[in-house]
Amino acid sequence: MKKEFIFIGPPGSGKGTQTKMLSEEYNLPHIDTGSLLREEVATGSEEGILANSFMEKGQLVPIELVSRIIRNRLLKNDCKEGFILDGYPRSMEQAQALDKILAEIDRGTDTKPQVFYFDVPQDKLVERLVNRRSCPKCGAIYNIKTMNLKDNTKCEKCGTTLTKRDDDTEEVAVKRFATYFAQTEPLIELYTKRGQLSTLDASLDINTIYKNLTGAIK
Ligand code: AMP
Repeated sequence: MKKEFIFIGPPGSGKGTQTKMLSEEYNLPHIDTGSLLREEVATGSEEGILANSFMEKGQLVPIELVSRIIRNRLLKNDCKEGFILDGYPRSMEQAQALDKILAEIDRGTDTKPQVFYFDVPQDKLVERLVNRRSCPKCGAIYNIKTMNLKDNTKCEKCGTTLTKRDDDTEEVAVKRFATYFAQTEPLIELYTKRGQLSTLDASLDINTIYKNLTGAIK
């Protein structure tokens, strides 16, 4: 059966960790707009420079750019059996754009993607973001405060030096939350009304969240 999943949740709610685990177990492409945009920024292209001017302020990158990236990605062959959208859509406008893209491409199904909402109290989030580090080589994500790493600067899987995202500062995090509450949160009501939404308690530990997530897959 085709598996199409959308993940919605505030910055730092753990979507990245869970979607990576799900992508490996179900062998589905993990489409993370934040990472795709950071890759574009790293190329130094005109679009990357434009995207960065929004990202460093914690604002949404213009919809034309994001829609193009998503459309091109969903047309790739590896999306034939399904996909995991992590961090897209992030606004009503993007949800409408996604409906259009999904209607246009030949998916071999009419069923709507299942949407997972990561519910977590906001007070836990800023701390998670400022303590977040990731491995630029294998993509592993760590929390240097709660995870008790042997060395807070090295990836436990491949030994690469961990990096901290430029926007994982308290100052930008506050702006990212404001963007989330104003533009992304209304999607919860939209997808609830459409019967697509499943809510997960994302304040639990990683393995429990994953067990609940896979158990909720329809
Ligand atoms: P993330 O890695 O998901 O925290 O995203 C980092 C930043 O990339 C966000 O603060 C936005 O500036 C931008 N971004 C990621 N996904 C989207 C999206 N779907 N639409 C617009 N901007 C996005």
